[in-house]
Amino acid sequence: MSSSLANCRRVVVKIGSSLLVDGASGRLRVAWLGALAADIARCQERGQETVLVSSGAIALGRRALGLASGALRLEEKQAAAASGQIRLAHAYQDALGKFGIGAAQVLLTGDDTESRRRYLNAKSTLTTLLGLKAVPVINENDTVATEEIRYGDNDRLAARVAQMVSADCLVLLTDIDGLYDSDPSANSDAKLIPEVREITPAIESMAGTTRSVDMGTGGMVTKIAAAKIAMAAGCRMVLTDGRVEGPLARVEAGGRCTWFLPSANPRTARKNWIASGLKPSGTLVLDDGAVRALARGKSLLPAGISAIKGDFQRGDAVILQDGAGTEVGRGLSAYSAADARRILGHKSGEIEGLLGYRGRDEMVHRDDLVVTQALLPTGV
Ligand code: GLU
Repeated sequence: MSSSLANCRRVVVKIGSSLLVDGASGRLRVAWLGALAADIARCQERGQETVLVSSGAIALGRRALGLASGALRLEEKQAAAASGQIRLAHAYQDALGKFGIGAAQVLLTGDDTESRRRYLNAKSTLTTLLGLKAVPVINENDTVATEEIRYGDNDRLAARVAQMVSADCLVLLTDIDGLYDSDPSANSDAKLIPEVREITPAIESMAGTTRSVDMGTGGMVTKIAAAKIAMAAGCRMVLTDGRVEGPLARVEAGGRCTWFLPSANPRTARKNWIASGLKPSGTLVLDDGAVRALARGKSLLPAGISAIKGDFQRGDAVILQDGAGTEVGRGLSAYSAADARRILGHKSGEIEGLLGYRGRDEMVHRDDLVVTQALLPTGV
């Protein structure tokens, strides 16, 4: 299992506040961050794409603003985050910059990962950054996230990000080396569970007993919630102690950790979600050429669409039908029904002239598309 981190293509690493910020002084742990940057540089060098989800804004900002210790009100947390996030972003820029890696700050709220239109926007920004070899450094947009829309903990946010970018591995770096069958601080016989293949009620109850002293908001419960999201998206997750310098290298070397292993891979999980997890809100009718292109694994272009039924927004699921009314697939539309009606039958190069903005070339990108079994050549 130890080598599997090295084999992952796209890795999301979540960094808890207690790792980055010294609890007593409220200062950034610069040496630790430098070692993490070296860890990430090694991943980048061997062609792995890395996304960071980092907490620490509130912990850094509260000291900078002179807020008293103890629980903060929501507005105080937001003020602390506003101040701390600048410091956090600079710290990553400096640390990664030493290895010639560009950092890019992305602040998300729950809505950006739940509502499909915003989800597609966030997803394409992240994949563009990865294509440019930059490391996205993500945090919750705490300054605008009110109680109802906020995640509050970055464990679940990191899992949503992993799902969004179809990562094959999510690493949660925290202050405990894994999931235990009972609270290790209270029970010296507590055993670390090295591998979890399903989140059973027994696993959930273990989460309730394992304490994490993380300064952030999550405990073991949010880590298990993150594991559920990641595993459903076909993404493996590893929970480990990030306090050592170079924690990723430590996992690779077989250091203590808990692996959460899904049964499907991200691609299959996403295809299942598109094929059966969403309620379609419209239909695109395809000409014969487009149906043939789909069967060959191509994207659906506006030129291949002959009619549109229903009303949908960008990012909504749609049914793809052939001229005879048979369903040939499902996918996420890159355009709203109104815009799709204006560009149907046209070449992608004409989109900007017709809509006044340059959208995607594809109406449904091949990554957002599942074709029905009957359309596929046999044996696929
Ligand atoms: N977004 C918060 C911060 O940056 C942390 C949330 C958490 O504790 O996970 O301070």
